[in-house]
Amino acid sequence: MSRIIATAAIKGAYKEVAEAERMFNETLEAAGATAKVEFPNTAYYLPIIYGLSGIKVEKVEDMAKVLDLCKELLPPVPRAKHWVPYLGHALDAGIATLFAGEIIEGCKYVTNPPVDDIWLGAADDVIMRERGVEFVDGTAPGFCALTGLASSAEMAEKILIELLEKNLYVWMSGHINGKTITEQLLERGRQLGWDTRTVPYGKEMSSAVYSLGFAARAAMSFGGAQPGDFKKVLRYNKNRIFAFVLALDYVDEQKYAYAAGAINYGFPTIANTPIPEILPTGVCTYEHVVSNVPEEEIVQKCVEVRGLKIQITKVPIPMAYGPAFEGERIRKEDMYVQFGGNITPAFEYVRMREMDEVTDGKIEVIGPEIDDVEEGAALPLGIVVEVAGRKMQEDFESILERQCHHLINGAEGVWHMGQRDIVWTRISKKAKEKGFKIKHYGEILHAKLLSDFPAIVDKVQVTIYTNEEDVAKWLEIARQAYRYRDEKTAGMTDESVDTFYSCTLCQSFAPTHVCVITPERLGLCGAYNWLDGKAAYEIDPTGPNQPIKKGDPIDEVKGQWKNVNDFVREKSGGVSEKFNAYTMMEDPMTSCGCFECIVAFLPLCNGVMIVNREYGGMTPCGMTFSTLAGSVGGGAQTPGFIGIGKVYITSKKFISADGGFQRIVWMPKALKETLHEQLVRRCEEIGDPDFINKIADEDVGETEEEILPWLEEKGHPALTMEPMLT
Ligand code: SF4
Ligand code: ZN
Repeated sequence: MSRIIATAAIKGAYKEVAEAERMFNETLEAAGATAKVEFPNTAYYLPIIYGLSGIKVEKVEDMAKVLDLCKELLPPVPRAKHWVPYLGHALDAGIATLFAGEIIEGCKYVTNPPVDDIWLGAADDVIMRERGVEFVDGTAPGFCALTGLASSAEMAEKILIELLEKNLYVWMSGHINGKTITEQLLERGRQLGWDTRTVPYGKEMSSAVYSLGFAARAAMSFGGAQPGDFKKVLRYNKNRIFAFVLALDYVDEQKYAYAAGAINYGFPTIANTPIPEILPTGVCTYEHVVSNVPEEEIVQKCVEVRGLKIQITKVPIPMAYGPAFEGERIRKEDMYVQFGGNITPAFEYVRMREMDEVTDGKIEVIGPEIDDVEEGAALPLGIVVEVAGRKMQEDFESILERQCHHLINGAEGVWHMGQRDIVWTRISKKAKEKGFKIKHYGEILHAKLLSDFPAIVDKVQVTIYTNEEDVAKWLEIARQAYRYRDEKTAGMTDESVDTFYSCTLCQSFAPTHVCVITPERLGLCGAYNWLDGKAAYEIDPTGPNQPIKKGDPIDEVKGQWKNVNDFVREKSGGVSEKFNAYTMMEDPMTSCGCFECIVAFLPLCNGVMIVNREYGGMTPCGMTFSTLAGSVGGGAQTPGFIGIGKVYITSKKFISADGGFQRIVWMPKALKETLHEQLVRRCEEIGDPDFINKIADEDVGETEEEILPWLEEKGHPALTMEPMLT
């Protein structure tokens, strides 16, 4: 190891520990010895200190012993005589620096939390579990701790996109003379935050402890490392978390000291400036510090040095592509053209064809292309995907069709929501500028369906309709297929099977969301029923649809099983502890955001209302669909509210523990019309053929007060049922 770097890291560590001591004394004076020290909502205290030393810092005074420890760790500053040719001293200095950094940030949380419009500060445990799960299951290989400043805002954006294309999280800390790469990215209009995996922790270098503290918590939460078992914490990170430090521009002693801290975790530093390198491998998988790498090549180098193997299918579109872009939103002002979303009809439909009926790679747009319309336009859209394969079956159509959502969303500058005939999608102005065409929707689906489903898909052809006439014609054909698929599970009951299926496809948006799909309750998007779950599992046994053996019931009425609880707990990263299939009032299913309808409890009416996505008006619970969707979605359990697929409304298991179908007091007229046949059938089944006429709609009223007298007049059964809220 070069002597210069050891000297720099050790000197930097001395300075950081001195700064921590200064902050500690200041905080002691301002807030007192017993003032609480905590990062928001975490059970891991100051996590690096807790993970590596086992010390729980809960009060200001607890930091004193950590400072003592730092001083013990600080090695002598190397001089000619002292010089030792191995990493040990610099590594100890690195740990002292990380402890000092946590003290500094911890003190800030006591007196002046380091959070504002730009900087997010520490991630809480919910975020840690949600995102940490992705590190564990490989959805995201790890993170890049990015520091410094790029040579230009354009270059900053280019580097960011390259990192995101590798599915990495990008965590930013530190500045160069007060300027930050975060601000460069803002200048380029990038969306920052957890959804876009672009997370600005803090302006000061000490905020790098949020990255390494996250890693320490991951080791304790997912790796079973006990607090204080520093070897296990560090080994878990070296082996399981793919992370590195990318340092742009000048690396001063302080940064060196933090880099030395990261090396302890096995995270190397890659820099674009000529800093001394540490090449022999040992602690890290490959080199420890690699310098002087040009910005254009730096991301590639990082990946090489840390030893990441990524398989990327190149999708032939003129912009970046990958799961990291799925969380991006496109606001109206940034949009060039949109389709669906109640403004125009839009649908997607995958159908199986014979081998000789499909020309692989043929992609056609019938109707106007993006260049034929003005900015801000809305077009109808029909995406018809024809698939053939020796092992393809009709049963797989819905599974492939449901992929459209996340596959299309993976394109930078394209946003997609919904499924079947409630699709809503937007193309941004930026994407248009880069040359994105409507045809590219087809290119994405062609490339990804072939690469993601090689076992069943041999040929893919896509026809995209953007004229009203064809869209209307094909919409009818698609709807027949949807209906046919929905009816396939008719007659099956939850009791008749011993296995349910999960769906976690939507975890790319809502990392804690788990759909539990039973024969009588389909996924909340309405596009995945039990048979689809079963077929999807057969196609991909390690994929997002896993069988859940029911096992012993805990509560048959509420629909709670021990195995299902265990499964949901694990797959939600511990966020959902329990799950009830048949009640919406207690531990209900989580919602990602794709629900066709939302069911909401109406206390005054002692019943529920149901609103479908297409309905734009006010509803009796006091919220429109979109406001409701904002509070119900995101992967949380929200008692009193559930997101559902339409077909579930007429299922015998529809909130059966809460009184079932007869609890419905309100739904929009259009929804009643769409479901007319099924509603009539269900009313007969429950022995109250007139019930359909007792369900209020927007003509009766849009508030509980307005509809209640009407329900009374009609003798609605909910009014005399047991109280729903107990
Ligand atoms: Fe799967 Fe549920 Fe998402 Fe539908 S809503 S794709 S069933 S996770
Ligand atoms: Zn979803």
